[in-house]
Amino acid sequence: MIIWAAAPGSAKGWTMFLAPTRRAALDHLSQYVPRAGAAYASGRNTDPGPDRPGAVSRLSPAIRYRLLTEREVVAAALAQHSLAACGKFVQEVCWRTYWKGWLELRPAVWQRFLTERDAAHDGAGGSADLLAAEAGRTGIDGFDAWARELVETGYLHNHARMWFASIWIFTLRLPWALGADFFLRHLIDADAASNTLSWRWVAGLQTAGKTYLARADNIARYTEGRFAPRGLAQEAAALIEPPVGPAGKLPVLAAPDGAAPSLLLVHHEDLHPESLFAADAPVRAVHAVCDPVLLWGDAARRFAAEGTADAAARAAAQFGCGAALADKLDAETLITAAQAAGARQVLTPAAPVGPVADALAALAPMLDAAGIALRPVRRGWDAGVWPPARRGFFAFDAEIEGHLRADGLL
Ligand SMILES: Cc1cc2nc3c(=O)[nH]c(=O)nc-3n(C[C@H](O)[C@H](O)[C@H](O)COP(=O)(O)OP(=O)(O)OC[C@H]3O[C@@H](n4cnc5c(N)ncnc54)[C@H](O)[C@@H]3O)c2cc1C
Repeated sequence: MIIWAAAPGSAKGWTMFLAPTRRAALDHLSQYVPRAGAAYASGRNTDPGPDRPGAVSRLSPAIRYRLLTEREVVAAALAQHSLAACGKFVQEVCWRTYWKGWLELRPAVWQRFLTERDAAHDGAGGSADLLAAEAGRTGIDGFDAWARELVETGYLHNHARMWFASIWIFTLRLPWALGADFFLRHLIDADAASNTLSWRWVAGLQTAGKTYLARADNIARYTEGRFAPRGLAQEAAALIEPPVGPAGKLPVLAAPDGAAPSLLLVHHEDLHPESLFAADAPVRAVHAVCDPVLLWGDAARRFAAEGTADAAARAAAQFGCGAALADKLDAETLITAAQAAGARQVLTPAAPVGPVADALAALAPMLDAAGIALRPVRRGWDAGVWPPARRGFFAFDAEIEGHLRADGLL
């Protein structure tokens, strides 16, 4: 279901929100899929503005928190279109998979971003230029509207994200890591991999030396004349950094004990546990956590908290057990919940690089000391499609069709 509603905190206009439940996400997907073919390919670059529907799906919050999995979104598109017809849409969904895989194979790049962001805050944090950019008071046509749109709605069209990041870096000459941080604090779909690596791509760090330059004529054309900024940078010299090391391997995860009484830990990185754990898994209780500290902004926190409650109810129904909701991901609460359920292991969806993965890694030894094994489980889609994200996107993309075939989607 697509809900047209006043954006929280918005003084003007209406915007489109996806309710944070799986039912709403599935309805939205089925309403959208007929347009995932030629209409998407020809219209996806146009940003008609926040109060007019465009060609893109606006499914990103549902996909980001896995109310919908990438696999089922791709399957839904392929059920109604040939790959030739919906190839562009499938490719864009696979950009997400690529970014997730790329970062998973190089987790140090996330740490590098955090270090750079904190250093930039110590330097430019609170500067008049930074405050003006975030408040949409630079005087740059388009840029100011996108800054406000982002804060008011929690969403920006992909092309607007690209223009905004480019102007931030090359025209305003602000630190890229503070721009990425601004996005993380306001996007509902805020994501460690898609956001960090997209900003790096615009800056020329991701594909070394290749930058994205926002041009006034391109902005005017793809905003249907809404904006015609003047004074944009005419060139974009790539930022430089020490080399990023070679891609590593996906960490090997210990297999869960198929018979051990278990607690199912649901977290906001994967809100469709029913498709990851078989209905006959020995789950005695569900413990669902959305810890606000593990997200960056309030719009994302609201969406993820409701989505987590929705996932908890679905999981409890699937496993025929009780579900508890918590707002803190810590060892003590988890051990208490596991012991109350008589569980010897905690099953949970494997969390990708980011704060939830860090929190799980920190609490695993404490669970272990209490005689409870933490067993993250990786989806088949991730296990199959992340490893080829070792190189550039187009090498990755060349392998996708084979994966779709092997996965029975073609
Ligand atoms: C600077 C910058 C920052 C970004 N930050 C995020 C972020 O934090 N979280 C996020 O989910 N996406 C991010 N993106 C990617 C992209 O802009 C959004 O996923 C997309 O705009 C979401 O709108 P949609 O659902 O209508 O997309 P559609 O065009 O309908 O695409 C369908 C789905 O494919 C995926 N997708 C589409 N384009 C991309 C892309 N370029 N990269 C990765 N996945 C893609 C999304 O899951 C999306 O929902 C960023 C892009 C840029 C340039």
